[in-house]
Amino acid sequence: MKTSLRLLTLAAALSVALFTATAADKSAKAMPGGGRFLEKTEPHAEFVFQKDRSITINFYTAELKTVAATTQVVTVIATAKDGKTTLEFEKKGDSLVSKTKLPEGEGYNLVVQFKQTADAKPQNFRFKLDLHTCGECKRAEYACICGH
Ligand SMILES: [Zn+2]
Repeated sequence: MKTSLRLLTLAAALSVALFTATAADKSAKAMPGGGRFLEKTEPHAEFVFQKDRSITINFYTAELKTVAATTQVVTVIATAKDGKTTLEFEKKGDSLVSKTKLPEGEGYNLVVQFKQTADAKPQNFRFKLDLHTCGECKRAEYACICGH
């Protein structure tokens, strides 16, 4: 009896440890610039919507330390109600910054085409430009880390 109680305590302790590990993984996606983590990018790329409606792509190490953009090529295609707009990027400081701005409005679809080098196969990230603030994580919904 005593042994099974001990096992139970151990199991409880383990599940707490597991839970903590999961929470830590999630916070790893809370990108420093408040933007959206583009999964499977190395270095980690972050998509940030700026107040002037331009877009910045920042790069980080696995420890979320800023690194400079190198050979990455990014194109964003916005499908707003007036039609499709394509944004191209140029290097500014360590980041890539869009040369033009996103159309007015929100809630429309974005495709972020990400290439590690000009010749690489593009990775496509599709999501909605949802600028509402999430009640839980207080980030814009497009960058929400709550997993809902
Ligand atoms: Zn959230």
